[in-house]
Amino acid sequence: MNILDEFNTDNPCPSTSGIAPKKRKSANLSQWKRSVIRKSIATGRGYLNYKGSEIGERKTGPDCCCKKCKCFVQINEEDRKLILENFNKLEETYVQNVYLGGLIKTENVERERSKTGTGKKRSCSHKYYIKLGNRNIQICRNGFASIHGVSKKRVDNVAKEYRDPTVTTPAQSNRGKHQNRPNRIPSEWVSKVESHIRSFPRRESHYSRNKSSVIICLQS
Ligand SMILES: [Zn+2]
Repeated sequence: MNILDEFNTDNPCPSTSGIAPKKRKSANLSQWKRSVIRKSIATGRGYLNYKGSEIGERKTGPDCCCKKCKCFVQINEEDRKLILENFNKLEETYVQNVYLGGLIKTENVERERSKTGTGKKRSCSHKYYIKLGNRNIQICRNGFASIHGVSKKRVDNVAKEYRDPTVTTPAQSNRGKHQNRPNRIPSEWVSKVESHIRSFPRRESHYSRNKSSVIICLQS
């Protein structure tokens, strides 16, 4: 027997009769807190983080003061501002990383040397450039991070992707793609709860009869 046959569909649910049905809004993913924060981080705007603390907008970092490249002399204030603006316009972290990667040149170290004879030997070195018009200006790693308003760690992570000479674009982020979720409710529990709910007496929804015959509500 069809489960809906046993319900009296002519008798509206007393708890809902006389109340205007609520219109269901479609989810606007771009307005979700997570999406707003992600977008704000990528575009360098200020935002409130998950803890409610205010995070300032992305700014040019401190002068590296290096004597070799004189980064903040080679790239004047006006150019630094323009570089940061264009970087923020890229709007997505991955696209920004591809852009940063395009400005990093990786070279294999021919003679591996270590001053103390201990510790990790480097197999490659990175050179960092700023493109101004037709000119490629070499600057240091700290200056490169400061001018783009990003952390040195992010620059290192992008540079790391290019250790392999065959790599042309950095790998996509794996954030949130792991299966290590200890708080996830086991699927057997979910199916048990669903079958328990299905065991309650129920009838066809009064307000959705004209649109659908499958929406049902619990008997009050
Ligand atoms: Zn520098």
